[in-house]
Parts: sequence; structure tokens; C-alpha cells
Amino acid sequence: MKTFNEAHPPAALNKVRDVPTLCPYCGVGCALHYGVDEAGVIQYARGRNGASNAGRLCVKGRYGFDYAGHPQRLTRPLIRRDSAYPRGPLSGFSRQNSSGPRKPGGIVDYDEVLPHFREASWEEALDRVAAGLGGIRDTHGPDALAGFGSAKGSNEEAYLFQKFIRAVLGTNNVDHCTRLCHASSVYALIEGIGSGAVTNVVRDIENAEVAVIAGCNPTANHPVAATFMKQAASAGTDLLAVNVRRPGIADYCRQYCQIKPGADVAFYNAVMQVIIAEGLHDRTFIDARTGGFEALQAAVAHYTPAVAEPLTGIPASEIIAFARRLGQARSAMFFWGMGISQHVFGTDNARCLIALALLTGNIGRPGTGLHPLRGQNNVQGASDAGLIPMYYPGYQSVADPEVQRRFEALWGVDLPNKPGLTTAEITHAALDGDIRGLYCMGENPFLSDPDMNRVREALASLDFLVVQDLFITETAEFADVILPASAFMEKRGTFTNTDRRVQIGRPVREPPGEARQDWHILRDLAQRLGHDWGYADESAVFDEFVETAPPYANLTYERLGEQGRWYPCPSADSEGERVLFSEVFPIGRARFVPAELGVAPDLPDDDYPLVLNTGRQLEHWHTGVMTRRSRALDAIAPEARVEVHPDDAARLGISEGQWTQIASRRGDVQVQAHLTRDVATGTLFLPMHFREAAANLLTSPELDPFGKIPEFKICAVRLVPLSPPSTQTPPAGVSHAAS
Ligand code: SF4
Repeated sequence: MKTFNEAHPPAALNKVRDVPTLCPYCGVGCALHYGVDEAGVIQYARGRNGASNAGRLCVKGRYGFDYAGHPQRLTRPLIRRDSAYPRGPLSGFSRQNSSGPRKPGGIVDYDEVLPHFREASWEEALDRVAAGLGGIRDTHGPDALAGFGSAKGSNEEAYLFQKFIRAVLGTNNVDHCTRLCHASSVYALIEGIGSGAVTNVVRDIENAEVAVIAGCNPTANHPVAATFMKQAASAGTDLLAVNVRRPGIADYCRQYCQIKPGADVAFYNAVMQVIIAEGLHDRTFIDARTGGFEALQAAVAHYTPAVAEPLTGIPASEIIAFARRLGQARSAMFFWGMGISQHVFGTDNARCLIALALLTGNIGRPGTGLHPLRGQNNVQGASDAGLIPMYYPGYQSVADPEVQRRFEALWGVDLPNKPGLTTAEITHAALDGDIRGLYCMGENPFLSDPDMNRVREALASLDFLVVQDLFITETAEFADVILPASAFMEKRGTFTNTDRRVQIGRPVREPPGEARQDWHILRDLAQRLGHDWGYADESAVFDEFVETAPPYANLTYERLGEQGRWYPCPSADSEGERVLFSEVFPIGRARFVPAELGVAPDLPDDDYPLVLNTGRQLEHWHTGVMTRRSRALDAIAPEARVEVHPDDAARLGISEGQWTQIASRRGDVQVQAHLTRDVATGTLFLPMHFREAAANLLTSPELDPFGKIPEFKICAVRLVPLSPPSTQTPPAGVSHAAS
């Protein structure tokens, strides 16, 4: 197979042109220029003066762009050879039930996988996909199909993907990685205030007297946002951090509380108990703009600091100090991340933060508000565009007959009114034989979803799988058809960042070989299945999306220009709303929703005595598909390390850099140890990006009952030292197989 080899000589600098576009990684949505030479090769990235970054970039934005020109880029459609059935993983890595002997290398071995596919024309590949998906729809019904879209795609791509799944295939089984990220936060926000988006932008922290930074690590995961937090701290904002693992921003905090895993509800309930008991709550705001205060007051009454101290590990005096500083502040912002949301009680955790903001009257003014820091560059926009199973674009319920009628009229089809399955539910349904066909555009669930052994079984059990991506991912190893797609820097489209700012990404290079624009692929598949989508270009798709999604009213490509605008945007000449809900909430009065402390499903015992926390690190991104193919980023951080507290390490006989085995009730991985006091005794931290130490071999598939988000933060494990150097063989008595 031909691969795209970008072996171009560097161009003279005066031949390089600057193209204004965006960073493709996190939800901060930094504006940048790519310097592109005459051969279409990106020579550099430099920050431009965007509303969210003021010219700043982190290491990923500055150096992480060369993945688009990686030699492994797919350039032609691929079809699985007959000899590669029955369907299953094609590489030694993906077949293993554990890390087993560690195989170095962070990306799919094409020599191992490619022989199982043959190149095909687009005509043949699209015909095969249309027949595969259409055949299942006609034989087993639309709900035997599902689609995973991508938060890395544009709003236009997200809109068309959900339209394809709903209007062409006829099911609401469409979701994306928001389900692994902030689905619980969004559930709590819509329930509590009637809107899932942030109320205030990150840079509003410069107006805040206090900022609570809960369960997030912005210096690693939202680095440019973190620079504004540090700047605010230097100018006098008191930062209060709460986290199981010490975040870098703690260096700038007035107070850092290292709570026990899963203790957030106890901590925030105790803070609210103190605030109410000491009369620091905002009675005027509560009376005028909220409902349910009495129920909240009753629920938190028994979470006194003395009761909360053993539950949270935070001394009562520190809980009181936290509550007083927050309660006395004239303005306070609330930022949170995966440490809050990625739990089976993630919705309850978010409910507490929302209640705390309402209790102290901190919504609707500059320097206040709720800000769940969005992960992917377009996870906000993808959700806004309806890439979720229960809502059409603009968070309009699929179960509302009036909404259904409107979309039926617009799209000219009959639509299903039953909310669809979420990401992890789709995996479970595939195992049960209820989902038979899957369209996966730009996601890699084999590595990103919990309990990899179950995901492997689920992917292998499908009747038909089509994967549309830049590379052969671990998920694509299971595919019947692989469609070569376009990278961020090869497409035009809008992206909505964590601040609700809608900005245009612009192409700076051509897709390699025969790789195509993702929306063209969707359009051509729809055509084959009897739906004629006559969009002239991306802006026509955006206009239709705006027509369906009221929050995006007044936005057009022309008005977005180079700088973008915030939504909602009340008029054609408005910059958009920086602060929401000054007067009224979308549901009228906001609701206090009390929460009780929950119990995680996978708790330590004698066999698995430690708690594993999983998450991200600065230099990498999600399943590493992009960053591990970026030369600079991979060179800076080539390997996973499990973080171990020095006291635990001493007890277990583990030294810095020593190979270890982490085993959970579902599998095990081998990884080198890094000794640090950032993690508490009894806990470990493993980044999620490294397939050779795949965190999701270990994690549990249990879900939050509301947001349907998996438990990625509490997983009972044991840690065992391996003989140095790595023997590739676990010690006697340690099983590789999932128990
Ligand atoms: S902070 Fe996020 S958007 Fe900005 S450069 Fe870094 S990864 Fe890109």
C-alpha cells in the first residue's frame, strides 16, 4: 500500500505563508498561525491573539502538528480480506488480555495489520459500507445500528454525522466521547440551571475574588487556561484547589485540599453546611432565583466538618477555612474537570458544585459562574450539534413530539422518538447481540473505553464495522472497511471551545492521496442510501445547523471572521455573551439538587489494596493517535509512568524507574514507576495515552446512572515490583488473565 511520505526539504522562510487557524487539541481553543511552505508542509505554529489565548500556546499547540504528515496516514480506502474473518484483533497487542510482555512502540504496527486488508476504490468501499449498514437496518431494524462521532471533528461534521445516523439510518444510537468526559456535568447543569454550557469564560477569572479549582489539573490539561489562572492568582485572586492528586496549579493556591478518592460529595456538602450554619449564604439570590434550598439545607445538615473529616481526609479546620473564604468572597468562579465528572457519582459531584455556586450567589455576574473545563477542542460544539443520543441540535429532546415534528419537516424524513444508547451502553448492547453494526468516525473506543477486554469482545461480535480515521487505529483492526479521512489542518469548519466561542478552523494542507473530507464521505454515503444532501460547502452545513440550534442564532461564517464569537450571540453585531444568566435561568429558577455520598463499585480489598486514578498528561492526547505520531511530543514523553507515593514504594520495594505490574480485577499492565508525593499514599496515577500500558485494561465498566459516564477514577489494583530490568515475565502468583 502506498503511504504518504512527507519528505519535503524545508522551504526558505520567505516562501512560508501564515494561515490563521486553531490548535487541534484541547477545549481552550487557542488561536494560532501555521506557517506553511509552498509544498504544503507546516513549518511552525505560533500563537495569535485569540480571545482565549492572547497569543499563548502550550507544547501541544506549538509542536504537535506534524502527525498530519506522518508516513502512516491512510491514503486509500481499505477492505478487510476474507482471510481476516472471523472478525477479531489483528495485532499481538490488541489480542492480549493483559500487557503481558511489554512490546515497545506506541502506534499500530502496520506490518502486522495491513496484510489483512486490501486497497479498494472509493466506489467499492462506499458501496460496501452502504450495503453493510443498510442491510442491518433492513434486516434487524434501525436500532441494531449505532454511530460514534468525534469531538475532534467540526460542528458541521458533528451535525452531519448525527443527521446521518438519525435521518438516514433511523436510530438515535449516536454518541461521542463527551460520554467519557463531562456527560455527568452536562446532566447536572441542565437539571440545575437549564443549560449545559459554561456560564462564564475562563479569562473572567481576572474578575474573581476566589476561584475553586475542583478535580482538574489545568496546567497539564488546559495549559493556556492555567496561565490565566496563575496570572489571576498573582493579581490577588485566591485559588482554592480540591483534588485527589496534587495538580500543578496547587503551587499558586491559597489552599489545596487533597481529598480521599470519591469523597467530593462529603467535602462540598460539609463546605455548604458551614456556609449555611455561619450565615454566609446569599439569601437574596436564593430567594429571588432558586428553588429547593430547604431540601439542600436538610441534606447537608449532617455533613458537619467533624463528620466529613474522616470521610474526606481533610481536617475539619481546613474545611471551615475553605467554606469561610468562599462564603465571604464577593465573587467566586467554579472550574472543574474529570476528577469530578468521571465517576459513577459524577452527576452528584457536579450537583454539589452547582449548589455551592447557587448558595453563594455566584452565577450571573463577572468573576462568578460555573465552568466545567471541556476536554477536546470541539466537545462543546459536538454536543451542541446533537452528537448525543437524547438530544437533537441545541439540546432539544428527541422524545418531545413537537421537536420531532420540526426536525422531520426540516430533514424530510420520519424520525425515531426513543432516546438512543450512550457510548458504553452501545458496547454492552453489542455484547448482547442487540447492536450489530457500528459506524465509528474519529474515535478509538478500543483504547478509550473502560474494560478493554469487554470492548474487544464487543467489537469482535459486530456484523459490520466501518471506521473512518486518519490512521489504522486499534479499533480499526476490527473493521470491515476503513475510510481515509482528513486531519484538522486539512479542513474548513467551525469549532466551539470551552468558553462557548465559535471559531473557524482553516485548511493549510491537502489530505494525502485519496483521503477525503469527512463531510464529503457522509454526504456520499447518504446519497447511496437514498438521501440527497445538496450542501454547496461547509458554510451551508453550518447555516442549517444554526437554523436548528437556537443558541447559535446570528452566527454565520462571515460574522465569525478570524476571531470567532461567543454563543449565544444576541445580534448580528454582538461579540456574544461573555457572562450568562444575569437575570434569569433558562428554566426560570435554578434548582438545588442535594446529593448523598455514594460508594464506588470497585473498592480496594486485601487482594487489590490500592486505588488507581487514570487521566491525562501535558504532552499527550487521549489514545495517543495524534501525539504519539508527533515527533517532538513523543520524544519529550515517550513512555508511561505510574505515579507511586514514596511511602508505598518503600513498603513494596519499588524504586524510581523500576518496572512494576499493576493488576486489577479485569487485567494487568506493566509499567515503570515514578515516585512522587503528588499522589496520596494508597493511590496510584496512570496516564491513559499509552497503549503498551493501557489504563483501560484495568478500569471498570460501571456507569453513572444519570450521565452514563464510566468510573475512570477509582479502580482497585495491586502493584507488584518486577525484577529490574524488565524481565517481561510477571512474578509467580501474579496472573495475567482477568479474574
Ligand atoms: S492549551 Fe489547548 S488549545 Fe491551547 S495550545 Fe495547548 S492544547 Fe492547544
